[in-house]
Amino acid sequence: MPNPKRRHSNTRTRKRRTHDLMEVRATTACPTCASRDQYVPLARHRVCPVCGYYRGRAVIQVKTKDKKKAK
Ligand SMILES: [Zn+2]
Repeated sequence: MPNPKRRHSNTRTRKRRTHDLMEVRATTACPTCASRDQYVPLARHRVCPVCGYYRGRAVIQVKTKDKKKAK
C-alpha cells in the first residue's frame, strides 16, 4: 500500500485550502418583477420563482395565495 513518507505541515495544508473557498453567485434583478416595483435578486439563467418568467416569457405557473382563496 502506498503511504506518504512524511506528514504535511499545517501551513502546507492551509496554503492549499486557501483556494477552496466558494464564490458568491452573481445575481440580477428580475426584469418582470422590477417593472412592478419589486426587487427580486435572481440567479442568472434561472426562471424567476416569484413571477415564473424567463427572458420575458411565462415559463412556469407560480402558485399565489390569491388563487387558494378563490377556491
Ligand atoms: Zn420575477
